[in-house]
Amino acid sequence: MDIIDDSLSVRDNHLFIEERDTTQLVEEFGSPLFVVSENQLRRNYRRYHKAFKKYWPYGPVDVLPANKANWNTAVRTILSEEGAGADIYSQGELYSALKCNVKPELISVNGGGKSDEMLRQCIQAGVRITIEDVDEPQRINDIAKSLNKVAKVRFRVKPDFPNLWKKTDFALESTSIDIAIQVYKSGIPAEYLEELGKQVLQMKHVELVGLHFHAGRNHNSLWFWRGLMKRYGQLVVHLCKAWGGYKPQELDIGGGFASYRDPHSKLGLREDTLLTYVTYPLELAMYALTVRGRYKGMSTMIEKVMDKIPGKQRAPTIEEYAEAAVTTFKATLLEGGLDLEGIRLQLEPGRSFYGDTGIHLAKVKKFKQQTQPLKMNWVLTDTTYFFMAGGVYEYNFHEFKIANKVNAPAKHVADIVGHSCYADRILPLVHVPDMEEGDIVAFLDMGAYQEASASNFNALPRPAMVLVKDDQAEVIKEAESIEDVYRRDRIPQRLMTTAKDHQETQKQQPQLEATE
Ligand SMILES: *Cc1c(COP(=O)(O)O)cnc(C)c1O
Repeated sequence: MDIIDDSLSVRDNHLFIEERDTTQLVEEFGSPLFVVSENQLRRNYRRYHKAFKKYWPYGPVDVLPANKANWNTAVRTILSEEGAGADIYSQGELYSALKCNVKPELISVNGGGKSDEMLRQCIQAGVRITIEDVDEPQRINDIAKSLNKVAKVRFRVKPDFPNLWKKTDFALESTSIDIAIQVYKSGIPAEYLEELGKQVLQMKHVELVGLHFHAGRNHNSLWFWRGLMKRYGQLVVHLCKAWGGYKPQELDIGGGFASYRDPHSKLGLREDTLLTYVTYPLELAMYALTVRGRYKGMSTMIEKVMDKIPGKQRAPTIEEYAEAAVTTFKATLLEGGLDLEGIRLQLEPGRSFYGDTGIHLAKVKKFKQQTQPLKMNWVLTDTTYFFMAGGVYEYNFHEFKIANKVNAPAKHVADIVGHSCYADRILPLVHVPDMEEGDIVAFLDMGAYQEASASNFNALPRPAMVLVKDDQAEVIKEAESIEDVYRRDRIPQRLMTTAKDHQETQKQQPQLEATE
């Protein structure tokens, strides 16, 4: 048995997740398939909590995983059993957090432009409202007054970061983290905070319980976290003084830490540099050759220069992250003269929390080869990158295994592609062994943002999600049917004759409903 990580291993050349053979999961539950490890969810929660508690002795540490990264209710229920809170954004997420038993005081409701209805629900439930807009406190105070309640709020702040000069991984354009954070819409600009804080501290139905900051995954280094926590800490100190010696009950440092294998933006950066500086000028130079010579040159370049091997770099560990972030944060706060006794430290990890809890399995339909004019190979799968849309938006490059022959030697450079009509290059120009119909590709680190952002392009029904605990496997999200895909469509009555004629000729088509 070869160990890949805490939940993945290779046994007899097959990929296992916990005690389950992934090829058997596909046989039992169909393909494509998302698989989540319950053990890994629990391990990650405990690991995060322990790592941060080690460096924050002053008060409790609350781990509030970002619900958007995986909003499945079974997953959420497991985290509630562990005692996790939740970072949420929408009314839907609030509904599911409360339904899945998240403690209201551990729910951080983020996002600007909250509706009155949403605020009312938040106040009634007693969750933490993280304020994003300058008019929000007054609105909250009015609604809380009408409900005869006191709303607990925090400000989402937006410090500046002249110290973070390195290039952000978020944008394909080259720009510094400093500028990227300012371009990002979230957070109350620092210019309003002093005054707004003073107003809120006077309000009768709003209690300012702390401060919140989240910048996202701009960089996977500890340098980034030290720089981030220093400037955030300095702003906290400044505001506490400006508000006449205010002491927060809780300080939230948000999410944005990289997951360990860190697929984030790996495709974009590599493509960008290679194409701009190496491959395109070479390709142009080859126009001097004969047509055949040029294709031949390009074939060699694709195989030898543009091929990619995912995952050579690793992000720091959760423990290293905790040490770097908390040590800098508390040093800055103590330096500023803040009394930290009793303050809760909160964090909202997303990708680094869920990423390695999930994989995506897909069956190979064909191994397609072309030798003329350009040499290309394609592993055609039954999935699509529309089911892993989060990764497409972020130019992710995920690691993969051929689940039914993990140790087979690599023989070809091929695109692993999806079956939508787009180019659907899930993993471009990777090294694969001899491939055939029925082989199973396992995409790793699919636990965050992938299933959560799947769409139905080409009217493809989205896959099921299965939960694995030791050797137990259960469906926690059903696969869609074609009827599900078309369920929301309505054909106006006046078009129904045509639609019915159409159905006569295509009996397998789902029933299309008419609107009266
Ligand atoms: C998205 C988000 C997170 C999680 O971000 P990751 O990069 O996935 O860790 C945390 N807090 C807030 C407010 C967010 O919007």
